[in-house]
Amino acid sequence: MTQLSMKDTLKLADGNQLPQEGFGVYKLTDQDVMDQVINTAIEAGYRLFDTAQLYENEDLLGNSLQASELTRDQYFITTKVAENNQGYDKTITSVQKSLDLLKTDYVDLLLVHWPIHTEFFETWRAFEDLKAQGLAKSIGVSNFHQTHLQYLATKAHEMPVVNQIELHPYFSQPTMRAFDVSQNIVTQAWSPLGRGLELNDDIINGIATKLGKSSAQVILRWEIQNGIAVIPKSANPKRVVENASIYDFELSDEEMAAINSLNKNQRTGHDPELVYEQAHQ
Ligand code: NAD
Repeated sequence: MTQLSMKDTLKLADGNQLPQEGFGVYKLTDQDVMDQVINTAIEAGYRLFDTAQLYENEDLLGNSLQASELTRDQYFITTKVAENNQGYDKTITSVQKSLDLLKTDYVDLLLVHWPIHTEFFETWRAFEDLKAQGLAKSIGVSNFHQTHLQYLATKAHEMPVVNQIELHPYFSQPTMRAFDVSQNIVTQAWSPLGRGLELNDDIINGIATKLGKSSAQVILRWEIQNGIAVIPKSANPKRVVENASIYDFELSDEEMAAINSLNKNQRTGHDPELVYEQAHQ
C-alpha cells in the first residue's frame, strides 16, 4: 500500500498522486466533532482531507491532523482560496494564513474555489508562484467551465491539474468530464452524494439491494469506476466507514449504464457562470 492510499491514487499531470477518494469537511466547525470524525476517517483509510478558507475550519482540521498518528507525508490536504481573497497579493497572504491555520508548510493541492472575472488571471499567477515556492505541491481549480479553462490557457504558464466540480448521478456532467480528460485534468466530484438527493432513487436503490450495499456506496462506486475522484462528507462515524467500504464489489457495465442515464442536469449548488459574473457566491 502506498503512503497516500484510499484505495487507488490518480496520477496528476504534474506527476503528483491524488488519492481517488478523500474526505470533505464542509460544515464541520466543532473541534471535538472534527477530532472524532478525522480519527474515524483515518482508521477507515481516508488520506485526503478537503477544506477551504470559506469553511472557516482550517485550524480545526490542522489540529486534528497534527494530533493524529499520521506523519505529514502520509496525508494529503486540499484547501481553496475564497473569492474575497483572490487577486495576486491577497492570494499569497491568504494562503500563508491558511498554512498557519493548517499547521503545515505546504498544501498538497491548492484550488481556486470559484472563477470570478475580476481577479481571474492574477489569482492564477499567484498560484503558479506559490507552487514554484513549494507552498502548494499541485495547483488546480474548482467550479470551472470549459470556457473558463480555455480562457485561463491564454495566459497560464501551467494549467490546473484538478477541476473540482459538482457531480452526482442527477448532475453527472459528461461534457465537462470529457473536456477535463482531453486536457489531462482530473475531475474531482464535490457533493458526490448529491447532498442526499439521489439516495432514494429507484434505479440506485434497486442496484444497492441486489448487491447488498447502500445507495451511497453504489453512487460512490459509480464515480470511482468512471475515473472520477470523490470527497464525500459525513459527520456520522458509521457513514464515514460505509463510504470508504466500496472496494469489495464492482458495478457491471449494465449497472454503470443505468446510473449514467440518470443525469437530469440538476444542480444542488451555484452555477459557476453566475458566480463568475457577480464575483462572489
Ligand atoms: P455530499 O454529497 O458528500 O453529501 C453529504 C451529505 O450526505 C451529508 O451531510 C450526509 O447527510 C449525507 N451522507 C453522507 N454519507 C451518507 C451515507 N453513507 N448514507 C446516507 N447519507 C449520507 O455533499 P457535500 O458535503 O456538499 O460535499 C462533500 C464535500 O465536497 C464537502 O465537504 C466539501 O469538502 C466539498 N465541496 C466543495 C464545493 C466547492 O465549491 N468546491 C462545494 C460544496 C462541497
